[in-house]
Amino acid sequence: MQVIGKTTCPYCGVGCGVDFPVNEWKEDIRPLENNKNKVCGDAHHPANFGRLCVKGSNLIDTLGLDGRLLHPVVKGKQASWDTALDTISTKIKQVVEEYGPDAFAFYLSGQILTEDYYVANKLAKGFIGTANVDTNSRLCMASAVVGYKRAFGTDTVPCCYEDLEQCDLLIMIGSNAAWTHPVLFQRISAAKQKRPEMKVVVIDPRETATCDIADLHLAITPGSDALIFNTLLVESERRGKLDYQFINDHTNGFKDTVQAARASSPSIENTAQEAGISVNELSQLVKWWCQTERSVSFYSQGVNQSSSGVDKANAIINCHLATGRIGREGMGPFSITGQPNAMGGREVGGLANQLAAHMDFTTPGAIDLVQQFWHAPKMATQNGLKAVDMFQAIEEGKVKVVWIMSTNPMVSLPDTNQVRRALEKCELVIVSDCQMNTDTAAMADVLLPATTWSEKDGTVTNSERRISRQRGLLPAPGEAKHDWWAMCEVAKRMGFMKAFNYASPNEIFIEHAALSAFENAGSTLRDFDIGGLSTLSKPEYDALSPIQWPVTPSQPQGTKRMFEDGLFFTPDRKARFIPITPKAPVERPSEQWPLVLNTGRLRDQWHTMTRTGKASILLNHSEQPYVEMSPSDAERLAVKDKTLVKLSSRVGEVLMRAKINEKQKSGNVFVPIHWTNQYNSANVISSLVPQVFDPLSGQPESKHACVNLEPV
Ligand code: SF4
Repeated sequence: MQVIGKTTCPYCGVGCGVDFPVNEWKEDIRPLENNKNKVCGDAHHPANFGRLCVKGSNLIDTLGLDGRLLHPVVKGKQASWDTALDTISTKIKQVVEEYGPDAFAFYLSGQILTEDYYVANKLAKGFIGTANVDTNSRLCMASAVVGYKRAFGTDTVPCCYEDLEQCDLLIMIGSNAAWTHPVLFQRISAAKQKRPEMKVVVIDPRETATCDIADLHLAITPGSDALIFNTLLVESERRGKLDYQFINDHTNGFKDTVQAARASSPSIENTAQEAGISVNELSQLVKWWCQTERSVSFYSQGVNQSSSGVDKANAIINCHLATGRIGREGMGPFSITGQPNAMGGREVGGLANQLAAHMDFTTPGAIDLVQQFWHAPKMATQNGLKAVDMFQAIEEGKVKVVWIMSTNPMVSLPDTNQVRRALEKCELVIVSDCQMNTDTAAMADVLLPATTWSEKDGTVTNSERRISRQRGLLPAPGEAKHDWWAMCEVAKRMGFMKAFNYASPNEIFIEHAALSAFENAGSTLRDFDIGGLSTLSKPEYDALSPIQWPVTPSQPQGTKRMFEDGLFFTPDRKARFIPITPKAPVERPSEQWPLVLNTGRLRDQWHTMTRTGKASILLNHSEQPYVEMSPSDAERLAVKDKTLVKLSSRVGEVLMRAKINEKQKSGNVFVPIHWTNQYNSANVISSLVPQVFDPLSGQPESKHACVNLEPV
């Protein structure tokens, strides 16, 4: 009889349930190239109901031990765990004593589990005394977080996946979901097939695979998203489509906001011209928006990875508040997270500008509350360094020790040449990873072998607030250990024995759940409350079914949709309109750098290919990096298809092959983010992206850098 283990896909924020054939495995035997075992979609998981995309379907092919990091390495030599942990704890203690707690930093990942995140956050913010805990999720959804907080008082995703199927109008902004969130896209496509009258609008400078189901594609000039939503607000008012009852009863700040929208978007004609689209196209969107109550705005990296990403998010949210389209079936502003556990990281406070359990340092009473709960000896009291600032501080010598976990900033952060300079300067670089040969591992002083998907055990939260178990189904190979264990061992060596004496991820999870409800009785101002899960026994935790937070005594089965009561988490319980004056991207095309570079994902690869690069079938879609350009740009620059070109910006240059695509907008080029120095001779595209970011969220403007392109 086959034994199926239930777990969750480790790639994107859809968070699909996966059935894993456990008994096909024997101890350390890993799949060979001709392995016939396949994982399947979990038919009962509410995110995917049995579906998987090509990345999920080929997960088993990524589990081979080739390239796995199987033992600790200290200063280039194989070492014992004791030596590695002693080296780390001694150095952290030394730099903290000598330079203060902010000389240490964690740089984490939306790939690690909530339990890992919780331990890192607790160690740094409660025991070392620094808030320098940031994550690659900063590159993914930080702008959406700040947008929600400004509007709702908390980082609360109002919607659920069913809303995407129940709406009559779906506006997808800056999202190529067909490739980046494929199973959600399958659900949307199926809903549209069932109800062809459901309208889908894609707002994206690129004509992507997502446009295949679109009734309307607005190929806007990059950066003009906020203009479009300000226009929707103005036209909703002009056409009598505002919900004044909702505005009066449940919001503040409408008057100033609509005034700002009128100033930036006085007419459809004006916006159409500025956004580079036709009046007819924009009029069609306005008409559908005004006549369709059940509308969802679905936004992702095209909105977030911008120097004004927060404002764009709030321009979208403003439209939903003004029409009362929130907290009801088939409606709402829905930010889709990129990573499997970007949401879980946010829940524990795993961002430098959060404290813990969705509380900020500025939340009244929060620092004392957390200190009391943790019995913490040395609380951080103010925001730490966000990702880009953190690596700048490392280069400046202010941060002396950095612990990088499950991420590859040498490939993924903007201006990777700066990241290299920073890590070269750093006194101790600790890298926890399952792979040995990443670009970042090459910079490590201490390498810690980490468990990976199928071995790690804990929880993740997907884009609809759904907590699912990622289960440890295979034994850890070699000397690989869980990330939470390694951090606890360091904490104990630093003298924090009792607070980090966890025997299992279940113990960490129930502490995390208890903190979310600590002294929360009677309070209505904390959105993230999973106190209903704080008494889970180990068997209950092991058997935990996917559940959407909040999970409270009054909502023990979880919460599908937020704000159904029209009450938000601001002091007066009202949502806030935010006046938006649209801003152009920071870099403008010039004679020297005439083209706009957009970066993004491919269908079959994940991040920097450290895992998907191991599944040969996933390379069939695209074997090597390329720069996609329009036929007119190619002709003007005398570039032939598939020939080598040099791309340069003010911070770097790379070589890659040209791919001429008639769908590409003239003046714009697109390059996938995945390839690295380790996996291909091509260079890293992030090395061309300058460290420009949204001042409110710290999220880099990875969708818009100005470059030059020339044949070589
Ligand atoms: Fe995994 Fe995302 Fe594909 Fe689902 S859609 S199988 S979570 S990569």
